[in-house]
Amino acid sequence: MSLDKVVKHVVSVVGEEYEERVRTILKTLIEEFRIPEKEAAATVIKKFKEEGVQIKDATKKIADIDGSETNVTIVAKVLSISKGKGKAKAFARVGDDTGHARMILTSNAEVELEAGKVYRFKNVMVNEDGSLLVTKNTTARELEEDIEVKPLTMIGVVVSVAKNSGHVLRCPECGTPLKGGACTEHGKVEEPVERVEARVVVDNGRVARRFTLLPEHIEALTGLTLEKAREIKNKFDNEAVRQVIIDSLIGKYVRVEYLNRVPQSIEFTTEIPTEVV
Ligand SMILES: [Zn+2]
Repeated sequence: MSLDKVVKHVVSVVGEEYEERVRTILKTLIEEFRIPEKEAAATVIKKFKEEGVQIKDATKKIADIDGSETNVTIVAKVLSISKGKGKAKAFARVGDDTGHARMILTSNAEVELEAGKVYRFKNVMVNEDGSLLVTKNTTARELEEDIEVKPLTMIGVVVSVAKNSGHVLRCPECGTPLKGGACTEHGKVEEPVERVEARVVVDNGRVARRFTLLPEHIEALTGLTLEKAREIKNKFDNEAVRQVIIDSLIGKYVRVEYLNRVPQSIEFTTEIPTEVV
């Protein structure tokens, strides 16, 4: 990052009118005192804040965030959260309608986050790699409204269809697949939920991800309707239903859009496999 870029960033936060002063202080901090640029920017912003300068609070979209920023405000939905290790208290994945980001909650962070909820995050730090750092200075206010989140996309080849895929009967109460017409929890089930399901693994050469396809996905890709699947199962067995799915999917390239591992859409494609974006 150049001095100009740091100046531009700080000015965007504190206001154009302070540009000259910002440049002078940053130049001293960075060139004379050898303070890292990001740290210098944060120091100057803090100084102006302490002087009572109104700090601009422009909310950013995730896709617009780059590694040179310090105090960012975003409105994002927590897609998943997991326990951290070392200096990280927790890791979260957040998203808005422009993209996703990894969020790291440092051990001194005071915010409490819950998956599925939308927050306005203030004073989020941005790491070089674009991941977001929630520190003791970060606040997160839960918002009432839900926001749209852009799904992730993966293009890869279907490499496996799990054993229990096909025509599946589930317990209407707990959703567990039945064994011999009974649920391990609720006993014999009179009216099970009937579904065509498939758990597949899609591999793009770098990562392999497991997806549970919904009945409408399977019907679109393989032509298997519930009636057809039931018919094949009654005539042969469930392995024959699974074989139809295998014949249609294994070795084929698909484009999957998904959120939290749940496909929003899946279709055959001729595109080249890509990294998860
Ligand atoms: Zn049950």
